[in-house]
Amino acid sequence: MTATRILVLNSGSSSVKYQLLDMATHERLAVGLVERIGEETSRLKHTPLAGGGEAREQNRRIADHAGALKAVADELAADGLGLDSPELAAIGHRVVHGGLKFTEPTIVDDAVLAEIERLIPVAPLHNPANLTGIRTAMELRPDLPQVAVFDTAFHTTMPESAARYAIDVATADAHRVRRYGFHGTSHAYVSRKTAELLGKDPSEVNLIVLHLGNGASASAVRGGECVDTSMGLTPLEGLVMGTRSGDVDPAVIFHLMRVGKMSPDEIDILLNQKSGLIGLCGDNDMREIRRRIDEGDESARLAFDIYIHRLKKYIGAYYAVLGRVDAIAFTAGVGENAAPVREAAVAGLEELGLAVDGELNSVRSDEARIVSPEYARVAVAVVPTDEELEIAQQTYALVGDAGDRNA
Ligand code: ADP
Repeated sequence: MTATRILVLNSGSSSVKYQLLDMATHERLAVGLVERIGEETSRLKHTPLAGGGEAREQNRRIADHAGALKAVADELAADGLGLDSPELAAIGHRVVHGGLKFTEPTIVDDAVLAEIERLIPVAPLHNPANLTGIRTAMELRPDLPQVAVFDTAFHTTMPESAARYAIDVATADAHRVRRYGFHGTSHAYVSRKTAELLGKDPSEVNLIVLHLGNGASASAVRGGECVDTSMGLTPLEGLVMGTRSGDVDPAVIFHLMRVGKMSPDEIDILLNQKSGLIGLCGDNDMREIRRRIDEGDESARLAFDIYIHRLKKYIGAYYAVLGRVDAIAFTAGVGENAAPVREAAVAGLEELGLAVDGELNSVRSDEARIVSPEYARVAVAVVPTDEELEIAQQTYALVGDAGDRNA
């Protein structure tokens, strides 16, 4: 029997999201989520998609990631999709920080685990959880290839001129301070899909990709390769996000320490969790913000305007970086669904060849589509992202290659 199934695991600090995909049929067999791991009542929601089964839910304490993965394995086994199935080819893991070393998806061995661990200081929230997920999966299926797919990998093509901060080189290098970029799996997938939508090969097109979810990032992609991206050493830099500030003058931090008497940890929480849209107006959900704007709420209006202003600045910056832009692609929760954000982001940019068609832009759809008028020089596209599919495809390609080499 050929093994064509890939289990994708996205292990966060207190959650595990998973999908089981069949790469031969492109069918999604099961999806699910374990959240509130370690809390009094954790929640596991498992949806078997293959046989059209009903979603199942467990509300009980799941103490740690090992317990969560075990529970997931049991749910999959109950649908005849257990981890012991000979059809399972590999497990693909999302790993947030791959530093400079990991430019491609990589089969995990001890050296890879050690390197992911070495990167914890630059990804303290994410890499420990990703590591625990991998280690637990290895214990459950020690014989199976475990593949790490890195959020940073797509951005490793950035030239030094974009990747370096203008700070003392020796200090920067000693502490690995540089711009790494994140959401790379999404930027990679959406760039390819956008080229496809334009009927071109990725190598022929220049794109600006705007991943606007709760976290948000922009990237400039020339001929299929990332040349700049808005997130930096951590996912805090760049655009205004749901709860993160994005760009601020670094001196704001010293000012808050010296004058506001805040500790580094307090400022970390302020900028990562209490800023962005939620800090500006108390809501981080764009639907709620639009509703409040419609009711005449001033702080929601200002939060929206600040969000759009920053977005526009990045569109302008990446236009200049690329010189020629063939398309701007909007993706993720806000990018795919919020027509007013797309409209406002390109408003007034007709001289740059940018416009949206009001009618096309307001159509709701799950399909990749172009929402700019025919006359516009630059296509504006809405391209739903699918990070799990991208991880599964990259994992399968790697395991397939390994299989071919062994054959
Ligand atoms: P995450 O970064 O958590 O993966 P998503 O890409 O799922 O986030 O995006 C979540 C965000 O998408 C929500 O916080 C909300 O602001 C926005 N969103 C989702 N649906 C809509 C919608 N229909 N209209 C406007 N915004 C939406």
